[in-house]
Amino acid sequence: MSHKSLSGQIKDKLIQQALERKLKASEQPSFNLSAFSRPSEIQESWYRFDQHPGYKHIQIIHQGSKQFGINNPFFKMHDGIAGATSQIDGQTFINYASYNYLNLSGDERVSAAAKAAIDQYGTSVSASRLVSGERAIHRQLENALADVYGVDDAIVMVSGHATNVTTIGYLFSSNDLILHDELIHNSSMVGAQLSGAKRLSFPHNDYEALDQLLNEQRHNYERVLIVIEGLYSMDGDFPDLPRFIAIKEKHRAFLMVDEAHSFGVLGKRGLGIRDHFGVDGKAVDIWMGTLSKSLASCGGFIAGESALIEHLKFLAPGFLYSVGMPPQVAAPALAALQILLDEPERSHTLAKRSQYFLQQAKAAGIDTGLSQGQGIIAAITGSSISAARLSQNLFNVGINVQPIVYPAVPEKSARLRFFISCGHSEEQIDKTIQALHEAI
Ligand code: PMP
Repeated sequence: MSHKSLSGQIKDKLIQQALERKLKASEQPSFNLSAFSRPSEIQESWYRFDQHPGYKHIQIIHQGSKQFGINNPFFKMHDGIAGATSQIDGQTFINYASYNYLNLSGDERVSAAAKAAIDQYGTSVSASRLVSGERAIHRQLENALADVYGVDDAIVMVSGHATNVTTIGYLFSSNDLILHDELIHNSSMVGAQLSGAKRLSFPHNDYEALDQLLNEQRHNYERVLIVIEGLYSMDGDFPDLPRFIAIKEKHRAFLMVDEAHSFGVLGKRGLGIRDHFGVDGKAVDIWMGTLSKSLASCGGFIAGESALIEHLKFLAPGFLYSVGMPPQVAAPALAALQILLDEPERSHTLAKRSQYFLQQAKAAGIDTGLSQGQGIIAAITGSSISAARLSQNLFNVGINVQPIVYPAVPEKSARLRFFISCGHSEEQIDKTIQALHEAI
């Protein structure tokens, strides 16, 4: 390995030996416990879930919320379709807690496509597409996505999160480098960790810092992946894509863009950040997106050149060893994509309402941070407690918005996060801003 020093190699060897010893020990029959693990020496926290650090952390948060008189803002029970409004426990709320940006979840045509797919194919394809076979709807959806991006092909997987994990985790390994925006989604981070590649973050949207990192590090690695998002869901801002493309070309790196929140939202036709900047689809190596937001379904996709897609179809574990997308999940995504193409006014309205929300919020003196007024608007509250309190106060007057608290964001930038839908009216937004202003 070119980038590893001798001491690094010795360390690896020692770790390997220790691991082998551990594995050997674990092969011993259970009654023959090794010296350091006599039953009396095993701590309770090693065999009880209620002693798990994660569980304890949640209990502390619950107790803290109780002490401050804050109801649990999570796992609210919605009675029907969650769009610009939603019925929760029998009461109708203005809803800012769904990614139904284009109001297509609940659209009759989209629901009808799901029902027709069930009638034709049943509810499950029951195994991996590689072995149990394809359904036409899989290929139709993949071809449509590839067309939208102007690339050779696409692959759909059953989860957006798993798409990032398995794609990054499979394609890169220990001789490689993964550079990602510091605000990258957990799924890309987990994929990078799984890959075993060296992982470094660069400051948010800072392409100059990325260039500098590559000047210093590129020569130490084989493949280099840069991961950014088309629209960042915590702040509602987006990167200068052409700059990132220039940098990846200069350093002969791969560029991956996660369009989970930008597809359907950015661009004149709502076709994402590529549409916004008017760049060639082939200028980005890996386009990733989810079907769960603008496309009103569930799952993830990768679009790119044939060598990438064919490769993933045969070898990415999350595709190869996982069930194919259920027909009633693929069909509504395809129907939603067709509507998105036929009715660009949906994304125009979304852009208008988002801009309106941002302007009104700024006029009311609300700190909207980096928000660009593109589908997502943050209202920075300054502390987790005040974010949770504001969320509850708004809920009490019929507005559903989620608080984002530490550790999801640094404590001083705890916030409320408003997801706008093209179904929101200006009146609903006025009411929200007024209520937020009063609550603050
Ligand atoms: N990438 C980003 C940027 C996301 O925000 C999300 C989820 N919100 C995902 C990937 C995972 O997608 P899904 O929820 O569809 O699994």
